[in-house]
Amino acid sequence: MASAKAVAYGYADATIGVAAVMQSLIGELGLTNIAISGEAKIQGMAQYSLHFGVRNDWPELVSLLDKAIASLSYQELQQLRQRWLMTQPLPRETAHRQQPLAVPEIVKSQTLFTEEELNYLNQRVIRMCIDPDWMPFERLNPAGAHIGMASELLAIAQQRTGVQLQLVPTRSWSESLEFAKGRKCDILSLAMATPERLTYMNFTSPYISFPFVIATRSEEIFIERLEDVLDKPLGMVKGYAYAELLRIRYPDLQLHEVESVSAGLRKVQNGEIYGYIDALAPIAYTLQSEGVVDVKIAGKFDDKWELAVGVRNDHPLLLSIMQKVVATIDERETREVYNHWFSVKLEQGTDYRLIGNIVAVALLILLVMFIWVHRIQAERARTQEALEKLSLAQAELEKKNLQLQQQANSDALTGLSNRLYLDAILLSEYQRSQRYGSHFGVILLDIDHFKRVNDSYGHPVGDEVLVAMAAILKAGSRLTDTVGRWGGEEFLLICPAAQLIGLGELAEKLRSVIAAHNFSHVGHCTASFGVALYQQGERLETLVSRADSALYRAKAAGRNRVEVDEGRA
Ligand code: GH3
Ligand code: MG
Ligand code: MG
Repeated sequence: MASAKAVAYGYADATIGVAAVMQSLIGELGLTNIAISGEAKIQGMAQYSLHFGVRNDWPELVSLLDKAIASLSYQELQQLRQRWLMTQPLPRETAHRQQPLAVPEIVKSQTLFTEEELNYLNQRVIRMCIDPDWMPFERLNPAGAHIGMASELLAIAQQRTGVQLQLVPTRSWSESLEFAKGRKCDILSLAMATPERLTYMNFTSPYISFPFVIATRSEEIFIERLEDVLDKPLGMVKGYAYAELLRIRYPDLQLHEVESVSAGLRKVQNGEIYGYIDALAPIAYTLQSEGVVDVKIAGKFDDKWELAVGVRNDHPLLLSIMQKVVATIDERETREVYNHWFSVKLEQGTDYRLIGNIVAVALLILLVMFIWVHRIQAERARTQEALEKLSLAQAELEKKNLQLQQQANSDALTGLSNRLYLDAILLSEYQRSQRYGSHFGVILLDIDHFKRVNDSYGHPVGDEVLVAMAAILKAGSRLTDTVGRWGGEEFLLICPAAQLIGLGELAEKLRSVIAAHNFSHVGHCTASFGVALYQQGERLETLVSRADSALYRAKAAGRNRVEVDEGRA
């Protein structure tokens, strides 16, 4: 009391004492010229919170003492405390802290926080609930980490103040609110102050703020005033603060609660609700990151979403701590962090578009392949059909060719081999004989006095005789023999693997069959024969001319005879 009076009456410039005591003395004695200046922070004596008392007409001294107090470091205070109070230093880390606090952070905290606040921080873990799905503001990533604007801004503030926040994960924003109410968490990272929330939470000053907008389908007109669309169904995320405020302002509002921003935008897309209300950032973020093109931001409201840290209202110390934490964030940083998240989002948006494009291209390729395979199959069936037709045609052609060949090789009247074919067979027999030494022979025959047949019965009857003659020759010869028309009424038989005797006998047999045959219209008709066997080394022409000579001899000898050329022997 004496010290306070001394200050008041000018004997002393300042005194030190317990704030509560000092305050009561000032009041009791009516010492109006004394002001309570800074706190003398001495660890372990926080409950006494000792202050300098300074005469209030010397504001310079107040600020001087304040500065002096602020310059006392943690270490200096600890030394003072140990020297004068002889107590053990307080542990810097309490069992609750997850990570040890680095010295510089404590020094920073020392100057920022009051003794009581430091005590609070040393004894408690600050548990934080977030909105797990509210990008770009914040979200719980799949690894269970807090990311987004709020996370980055709070990280800056935590680093500056040394205050550590412990994340309590939740599944939804409404669950976070439940946790806050049930004191399962001490703060909400990013929330708006509403009358309902103020019953259990206090709020720091806002550190993120965005205008409210409404998103509708692209074909809707621009919304000038919220009142114009209040009769229509509108969506908001369950538990959002603005819903509470809107309900108070417009009791008839049809508000549909949705689970998340993307759920709300999908409902707009498929027409379940007319519009979706949220802050600009999460709507813009979700529209782009999810590649929604048929929903637009159709209107902006005058209200701003002022987002702050929500603090349990039964811990006033925590409110003042969090207020100091939030106050270290400046507007420029908020903008930078927002820009950062927006650029990340745009990249993600591009990625989504890219994925979309890739999927579309892949589908297109699949479609083209599908059509292609279909076409190839159809083409193959057609080709198969064409091939079958072709092979049929080929068979037909071969048959025709054979027929043509037969026609080319045979005589039109008698159907026997023609002269051309006989020449070819003669040549092949000749070559075979040259190569293998095989034997072959020929029988040449000529109808006797055929001119008379034509003259007596006419040319057609002569033809009939020729046809009948061919049949007799064909029937009387071996299968391996070639029977042909040599010209006019002359015929030639080529007989492979023959001996001269056998050839003579064959000629004789044919001669007798012809002589005995009764030709229609004509009756009896005879033929003369010349027979020759190929002799090694002779020319083909020689063989035929020897047969011809033998035939001539048969004619000369009286016709209806066989003459065998014996060769040169
Ligand atoms: P030779 O006994 O000396 O052989 O007397 P030839 O009358 O048979 O002999 P020639 O060579 O004088 O007469 C052959 C006749 O055969 C002449 C021709 O009118 C006839 N002739 C030739 N080719 C055909 C034919 O394709 N059809 C008919 N009907 N007659 C033919
Ligand atoms: Mg004749
Ligand atoms: Mg003749």
